Amino acid sequence: MAKAVMWVALIALAACAGREERAQLAKPVDLKQCLRQLDRLEGLDYRRLADKKAGPTCGLRGAIDVRNIGVVVKGIGPLSCPMTARLHEWIREGMQPAARKRFGSEVVQIDSYGTYACRPRNNMAGSQPSEHSWANAIDIAGVRLADGRRISVLRDWDGKDKATKKFLRDLRDEGCKAFNLVLGPDDNAQHRDHLHFDMGRWDNCK
Ligand SMILES: [Zn+2]
Repeated sequence: MAKAVMWVALIALAACAGREERAQLAKPVDLKQCLRQLDRLEGLDYRRLADKKAGPTCGLRGAIDVRNIGVVVKGIGPLSCPMTARLHEWIREGMQPAARKRFGSEVVQIDSYGTYACRPRNNMAGSQPSEHSWANAIDIAGVRLADGRRISVLRDWDGKDKATKKFLRDLRDEGCKAFNLVLGPDDNAQHRDHLHFDMGRWDNCK
């Protein structure tokens, strides 16, 4: 009973807190609770992956092999449980409504540069480990629509087509609602060709 009350209080607190506090409250992740959340998500098919320690600052814990998340995600690898839940949310509540609004079509494929990689932030030696080191991030390079259109962050972020430019900013802005940290071409040259989404402890949107 006391535990149930504590959870209710925690959930209420999380609902009132700002994004940064929410990120803090979300740590450490309650894996069982997160997996129960995944089981309730419509159209999601996944398998648990074995935990793996790949070094002092890299590895998998409670990672997910996403089998089906409603669209093809080319290049996806292992993904943390919270990232899987938020990616599902972003696809359904952010990306697809934006595609319908801007183009009257839906996304059928996301082109990703991947999720899990043992490397420092921005590939700079000496930096903190990237959230990719824990499969707690995804890099999105572009999408393909049902009408055959292909949209690329690199080519279209500052391209000529207004609807496409707005759509890419929709993807970024909707990412800011779903994930803790979002970095794109407006942040730095390292992100000129993709949107980086993660569920780490930093809270930013660029
Ligand atoms: Zn990234």
